[in-house]
Amino acid sequence: MSHTDSTLSMARRQLAIAAEYIDLDEGLLKALTVPKLQVIVNFPVVMDNGEVQVFQGFRVQHNASRGPTKGGLRYHPDVDLDETTALAMWMTWKCAVVNIPYGGAKGGVRVNTKRLSRRELEKMTRRFVTEITGIIGERSDIPAPDIGTDAQVMAWIMDTMSMHAGYTVPGVVTGKPIELGGSEGRVEATGRGVIVTTEEAAKKLNIDLSGAKVAIQGFGNVGSVAGYLVSDLGAKVVAVSNASGGIYNANGLPIRELCAKYSGLHGNIHDFKDCDEITNEELLELECDVLIPSAISQQIHGENADKIKAKLVVEGANGPTTPDADEILSDRGILVVPDILANAGGVVTSYFEWVQDLQNFFWEESEVNQRLSKIMRKAYAAVDQTMRKHKTDMRTAAMVIGVKRVADATVKRGIYP
Ligand code: NAD
Repeated sequence: MSHTDSTLSMARRQLAIAAEYIDLDEGLLKALTVPKLQVIVNFPVVMDNGEVQVFQGFRVQHNASRGPTKGGLRYHPDVDLDETTALAMWMTWKCAVVNIPYGGAKGGVRVNTKRLSRRELEKMTRRFVTEITGIIGERSDIPAPDIGTDAQVMAWIMDTMSMHAGYTVPGVVTGKPIELGGSEGRVEATGRGVIVTTEEAAKKLNIDLSGAKVAIQGFGNVGSVAGYLVSDLGAKVVAVSNASGGIYNANGLPIRELCAKYSGLHGNIHDFKDCDEITNEELLELECDVLIPSAISQQIHGENADKIKAKLVVEGANGPTTPDADEILSDRGILVVPDILANAGGVVTSYFEWVQDLQNFFWEESEVNQRLSKIMRKAYAAVDQTMRKHKTDMRTAAMVIGVKRVADATVKRGIYP
């Protein structure tokens, strides 16, 4: 399998590997290999200059055996049905690994948000949500932020759904601004979970994070928060990047300053001067202790896995490592904390947000972070134990737990009718 193979074939191969460990019934495996629902919508938006532009959007629900489906909305030029389906599958396993009562979904629009004005972004979002109104809902399918979307986009979604319902429906989407029923701690949650799992893995590998060198690909929500939280533990973040390349300083970058001045959907880290420019490929191959890919999928593949120098790879992004690369890294003794565990902090706190919205009762930030940390450490310990039991890599161990929980739920519910 090469890194040009589709993300979906990669997700399916991971499922097939896990299925062998749990002796999954063939029919059930077939059912879990395909999504329960895929929707493509083409919709027009009147742009600021008066011209009509047509956008293509997707929503995929993979499996709802354990509860309503949950998954982010991605605005990116490469969004397509196959990738959205793979991301929805990963959400199913992820929710099961951390044992929260959701199935997996994902959605997105093929768009370069940098080419849209704020007004165009809002109109596109509201029209897309209107097109998928019957599919998403607070009891059925709950979107959240992903690449290219943020709390403001979630606010527009919540408002659009509420306008259609005739009353406020905060639970229809998570990752909202606090003023609209968002949860304390949600913005930081994915990066926080990434660093909780980094801490657990570092303990096992005897890596002292204080003074450790960390390289982070992607400096959006996940990468920037992971960056400042790991630097708060004393680590030196030597490199970060965005879609146009990376910046590097062997003595460590001033992460909080970078976050304050250059991160966010429209910030540009390349305006920072006290560093060298590097490519995204060079960043991945840097001399460092911990590598945190936090951008897009298939970044570590069969052709560069033997050049990775980190001892520990913690997947902030979804699907950054291909199955070929998994094998190479595992043979080289490099531990990969897989996406469905490492970046599950976002969906865990999204779950907390949803629970708070349904109850109209809101928690302090310290309570949110404490509960998040507890769930992440418990999930890490379970995956670590399964990894040792089956003498396998950590991704397979996490998949074994996730797939088994989903399969058990499906069997106990029974196949309707
Ligand atoms: P974001 O839009 O805030 O940031 C994405 C970052 O990746 C930006 O710095 C962008 O410039 C960079 N990027 C985009 N294309 C790139 C490319 N071709 N090469 C290198 N860098 C590129 O998105 P985010 O929310 O931080 O999500 C990042 C990753 O984390 C995604 O894979 C997403 O699915 C995953 N994730 C996000 C969350 C969440 O809560 N936001 C939760 C779980 C997983």
